[in-house]
Amino acid sequence: MNFEPVIGFEVHVEPTTQSKMFCRCSAQYFGAPPNTITCPICLGLPGALPVPNRVGIEACVKLGIALGCQINERSLFERKHYFYPDLPKGFQISQYKSPFCTNGVLKLNKKSIRVNRVHMEEDTAKLLHQGTETLIDFNRSGVPLIEVVSDPDLRSPDETKEALVKLQQIIRYLNVSFADMEKGTMRCEVNISVRKAGTNVLPPYRVEIKNLNSFRAVEDSIRYEINRQSKALSAGESLNQETRGWDEHKKVTVIQRSKEEAHDYRYFPEPDIPPVLLSKDEIKSIRKSIPELPDDARARFIEQYKLTDADANLLTETKDMADFFDEAATLAPDQIRAVSVWMSGEVRRRLNEKNLTLVSTKLAPAALVELVTFVNDKTITPATAKELLPEMMESGIMPQKLVEQHGVSVVRDTGQLDEVVRKVVEQNAKAVADYKAGKTQALSFLLGQIQRELKGQGDTGRIKKILLQILTHLA
Ligand SMILES: [Zn+2]
Repeated sequence: MNFEPVIGFEVHVEPTTQSKMFCRCSAQYFGAPPNTITCPICLGLPGALPVPNRVGIEACVKLGIALGCQINERSLFERKHYFYPDLPKGFQISQYKSPFCTNGVLKLNKKSIRVNRVHMEEDTAKLLHQGTETLIDFNRSGVPLIEVVSDPDLRSPDETKEALVKLQQIIRYLNVSFADMEKGTMRCEVNISVRKAGTNVLPPYRVEIKNLNSFRAVEDSIRYEINRQSKALSAGESLNQETRGWDEHKKVTVIQRSKEEAHDYRYFPEPDIPPVLLSKDEIKSIRKSIPELPDDARARFIEQYKLTDADANLLTETKDMADFFDEAATLAPDQIRAVSVWMSGEVRRRLNEKNLTLVSTKLAPAALVELVTFVNDKTITPATAKELLPEMMESGIMPQKLVEQHGVSVVRDTGQLDEVVRKVVEQNAKAVADYKAGKTQALSFLLGQIQRELKGQGDTGRIKKILLQILTHLA
């Protein structure tokens, strides 16, 4: 029997705020000694009163607007109850019935998927299991979290990865979070069930997968679950609502617990925080602060700079890249094509090689434009330009200066070229004779010798012209 998967996701991102969601403790807990960033509020001590963080709420609303959500003018924080040592109050402040943002869309290459909600909540403490003991670090307790929940509109592992990568790209364009899966500022969970291919009803169960620390893990775990669930259904077994964890080493999912239903959490409005009211003007001003997003940037690059789809995709991959290209294109409108080739080729290759982002290097748009211009007007050879690029990225020194420092400009002095060519011709009588006898590969040999004398800095076209002239006159 043929089965198709029905997949949705829940993504948590930590917005980059200075303080935690409901208290004044710093939200920068990464690397801090355990339990040094706490107060009565984020430790859940009796009598402490939470006050919502405005920057956190704005980040959530920004993401909601970017995903085309409806922004609710009246939203509620609610208590979500469950008993676990990472939750000092016995409940988590989250949103349930009235979140900040609802009913959005995430546009993928070939389809759009529905975004059910984007809401705000607080992070839990971190548990460290050591042998038979468990240690608790409350530094993370109360750090703001934005949760994005999709409808189950995804149908394959690839599509799910594409959706998560796109979401991460939008979050980074908005600059609301680093959305780094390795550092845990972006955490993905997927829910998956399978049904007979060709049917339209949602299956009566769903399996949630947690502990997904990379896009790779997302894809692998979905593949594993499609296989496991299809086999179970084919064998006539029934599947249950449950939460499973991904075991990265064994490449299998392992049951963690049978899943609670929403009513198990006994949600009710947080009595210590009044409803959050956002005026139309406030929403409008947040909307205005949203930069051009990847889809719009890509469309503009194709239209304004006449780039191919593929180049526009690469150059808008990150906002840094797109901004850099815009600036370079403004500086040298006649070099747009060459700049795009260098950026999507050599620059990108160097960044990937060292796992760097463009802003973490010292390369400036003006420097790249100068380099491209030098190649174009044959001041330097393309090979030399490739050699200079890493130094430019590391030191920020302009190409002009590097060319002078290294003495790498192309030899254009015709007198000097003439002299070198004559010398090589005199010293290589056999190759010259071979050439005369019709062995054309002797010409490549001679050209190679000349470039060696010139340390690779000769203009190949001109050298060839001079060489041919001299060889003809020898006859
Ligand atoms: Zn605190």
